[in-house]
Amino acid sequence: MNDGGVPISQHPGEQVIYACTPCGRRGVYSKAKLIAEHGDIGLPRLASILSAACDGRFDSPQMKLCKAYFPRLAESSIADSKNANGREP
Ligand SMILES: [Zn+2]
Repeated sequence: MNDGGVPISQHPGEQVIYACTPCGRRGVYSKAKLIAEHGDIGLPRLASILSAACDGRFDSPQMKLCKAYFPRLAESSIADSKNANGREP
């Protein structure tokens, strides 16, 4: 059931910090709570779920460009090594 991204369980620390552009929404979720709610899905999929939750905040269609990301993950090397190893054939 892995979608190819780094799973929530491999995010560094006990909390998953995300930030969303361009709306500037930020949040901190308990990793255990996220896994309980969504399963141990890939962070890219979690990002799209979180981004979808943003959409209702804007009236303007061109603001539906939300893209959540995980600043703490970007600081680590997990994403890079996963990309190198987990590439689709
Ligand atoms: Zn957003």
